[in-house]
Amino acid sequence: MTPLDPADIVAAARTIREGGLVVFPTETVYGLGVDATNAQAARRVFEVKGRPPDNPLIVHIASTDRLRSVAQPGASCDLAEHLLRRFAPGPITVVVPKAACIPGVVTAGLDTVAVRVPRHPVARRLIEEADVPIAAPSANRSGEPSPTTIAMARHSLGDRADRYLDGGPCDIGIESTVVSVAGNVVTILRPGAISAADIERETPGITAARSADLSDSSTGSPGLRHRHYQPRARVVEVTDGDRSILESVATVLHQRNVALSIVDDARDPLSAVRAIIPDARVREYRDAAECARHLYRWFTELDSEGADTILVRRPESVGIGEALRDRLCRASGGTTLADWLRSIPEPLE
Ligand code: AMP
Ligand code: MG
Repeated sequence: MTPLDPADIVAAARTIREGGLVVFPTETVYGLGVDATNAQAARRVFEVKGRPPDNPLIVHIASTDRLRSVAQPGASCDLAEHLLRRFAPGPITVVVPKAACIPGVVTAGLDTVAVRVPRHPVARRLIEEADVPIAAPSANRSGEPSPTTIAMARHSLGDRADRYLDGGPCDIGIESTVVSVAGNVVTILRPGAISAADIERETPGITAARSADLSDSSTGSPGLRHRHYQPRARVVEVTDGDRSILESVATVLHQRNVALSIVDDARDPLSAVRAIIPDARVREYRDAAECARHLYRWFTELDSEGADTILVRRPESVGIGEALRDRLCRASGGTTLADWLRSIPEPLE
């Protein structure tokens, strides 16, 4: 990556103020940003992405001090501010009653707005320089994996965005934790790098609840209804108990163009597959954080390399593992190894 010229950020900020679309890095994924107070610019974001109009955008602000410029004062706003004081800048998005300056197109007609203070220095400088809140979904066509490098964003959006700012590969790699707040309860609408346990540990007196069914629109995060995070290849989740099944279906594995995402650990049941098909495409990682960081890029690469199936080990539900599990479940549509084996023709012996 060539270092970013500060003049590029100044020019991009001008583009934002003039109603243009700027692709910029955050620590989670790349965003496609517009002036959050400009309804016409926000409409263009939905058009360019092919995003369903009922999926609201996250509004990015430069610091927690700016929360009250986009949210309405009140108890929820106070609790949201308390959370942001602990976790911002960072990968947490709070849903609060919206201020009048945020047009309905940004919030998909809701009277609440989702707000985040990103940590990536380029994002922060861009928002400060633009001096307006920036509404930004991920910088990809709707339905594709979110981009975690500038190359992925360019490949997806091409000249439909007015400007691109390169901030290097994203550090976290999956989208922010989205929470709603009421009373002393923080409800996780979408899991991310900041977990329920992190929230309870860092903000004593606050209870963090996991929304019962994250795909249920009544839980208040409409975007989760939509198809998301899916590569073209079939993603299949493998559990530790699947090792012996995998060892018994060597012929099937030989006949498919299988790619493996493997923990660098002999206990990973996919290490058995690696022994069976040594020329399989493999992506290796040490822990859930590393897998999350690269996941969307791996999906995109493996698609372009023609993989038809991506086998991944289901991570443990701790720390970022919970969010990773959520994204893998969306990517696989819940397909288990048994489902996959049932769905393919009997192998020729
Ligand atoms: P994306 O920009 O694609 O990462 O998605 C933004 C996420 O934030 C989606 O899951 C939305 O449902 C969620 N979100 C945005 N605004 C709101 C809101 N006002 N209430 C609840 N969830 C929201
Ligand atoms: Mg997205």
